Amino acid sequence: MEAANDSDVSIDSSQKATDVSIDPKPQVIYRCKKCRKIVASEEQVVPHEPAEGQKCFKWKKRSDNPYNEPTQCTSIFVEPMKWMQVVEDGCVQDKLQCLGCKARLGYFNWAGMQCNCGAWINPAFQLHKSRLDECHL
Ligand SMILES: [Zn+2]
Ligand SMILES: [Zn+2]
Repeated sequence: MEAANDSDVSIDSSQKATDVSIDPKPQVIYRCKKCRKIVASEEQVVPHEPAEGQKCFKWKKRSDNPYNEPTQCTSIFVEPMKWMQVVEDGCVQDKLQCLGCKARLGYFNWAGMQCNCGAWINPAFQLHKSRLDECHL
């Protein structure tokens, strides 16, 4: 990859200042769809900039999308959490199972994974949205 290294790493220090005037956002929690166990809350979600989906997947032919809609991420990426036993066990990559019902909720890889939108998340703790109930409190 011959990406320009300097262009997208500039951090605007003014954005780092704590902004206390932000409106409180509605809290979002994610539950296992099967057993309703809470697996993550909004604070644990690691946001990422959706990459320009299909452009990043060079091996795929770009489909004709006249509206150039942004790719919807089908997963969320979170911080490592206590219920992820395989992470606690020191695995480098493995599937993530719900502690309650053992349903497979996602996958993790300390070396990083690619979201379906094309963005790389490193390290990656991926939970499939289709396995989760998203609850807005
Ligand atoms: Zn479950
Ligand atoms: Zn994404």
